[in-house]
Amino acid sequence: RAKAGGRHRFELFDEKLHDQALALLETESDLRRGANRQEFIPYFQPIVRLIDGSVVGYEALMRWNHPDKGILPPGAFLHVAEASGMMEMLDWQVFEHAMRVIPHLLEPDQYINLNFSARHFRSPIIDERFVQLINKCGIQPRQVRIEVTEGALLENSEQIGAVFRRLHEIGIEIALDDFGTGYSSLSYLHRFNMHTLKIDRSFICDLEANEERSSTDVVRAIMALSTSQRMEVVAEGIETQGQRDALIALGCELGQGYFFARPQSLEALIAGR
Ligand code: C2E
Ligand code: MG
Ligand code: MG
Ligand code: MG
Repeated sequence: RAKAGGRHRFELFDEKLHDQALALLETESDLRRGANRQEFIPYFQPIVRLIDGSVVGYEALMRWNHPDKGILPPGAFLHVAEASGMMEMLDWQVFEHAMRVIPHLLEPDQYINLNFSARHFRSPIIDERFVQLINKCGIQPRQVRIEVTEGALLENSEQIGAVFRRLHEIGIEIALDDFGTGYSSLSYLHRFNMHTLKIDRSFICDLEANEERSSTDVVRAIMALSTSQRMEVVAEGIETQGQRDALIALGCELGQGYFFARPQSLEALIAGR
């Protein structure tokens, strides 16, 4: 009996694995189909001055405009795209789309932030690709910025340092995304010549009403660090007036979040102006 039960469990387990593998394959082939049809598009979330809400730039956030499932966020498909080696292809689809709209959407002093997967650092021609796209779109290099997470910096720091240096020479600035959640080593900030720190949403959400003193302390420490290193700071995920006010009191000047605007399609953005 025990034996039979054991075998039964194994069968169930196998079946579950089988289903998961099938689902993964389905998503993967669906991703390929979607990529061929240019279904991966940027949504745009404004980055604003906290004091008056004026827009300094936008973060481009990938969405899958799926024919059956509607608009899908990265959480629904990025892990499959990473695992199946499609990340670079999807990213460039979104980057190109976002860069093409810059002349139509942006003032000359505004910029668009692009989220950069660790995979790109394996490409030796990434800077040339940016130069080509920048020329093709007729924009200034400083109108494009790149966001990376700390995790991406761990992989191969020699190579990454070289890539960043080349991008910096072109005039493309780098922002460290989700700052404070990763393996924050202060030496990264120096070595990689970071222009901006983006304070992770997890520190912003309990800033209000002195609920969580430690978050206030973290933000204060990041502000001090940024001042001494002359880096810009952007607070992520601001959802309330109270969080905005707390950040202003701590000396933070820039931010983004649902309190100001959700990520929206190009059409919605243009219609709303
Ligand atoms: P991220 O770069 O840290 O982007 C911020 C995320 O927070 C976005 O989620 C945004 O929609 C969300 N957000 C903004 N304001 C608020 C707020 O007030 N409250 C809350 N709860 N959330 C807010 P999204 O668009 O789902 O993107 C998730 C992650 O996917 C991004 O995190 C980024 O790591 C990755 N990603 C997005 N677009 C791309 C892309 O084009 N390429 C690559 N490689 N990764 C991307
Ligand atoms: Mg980001
Ligand atoms: Mg972030
Ligand atoms: Mg994030």
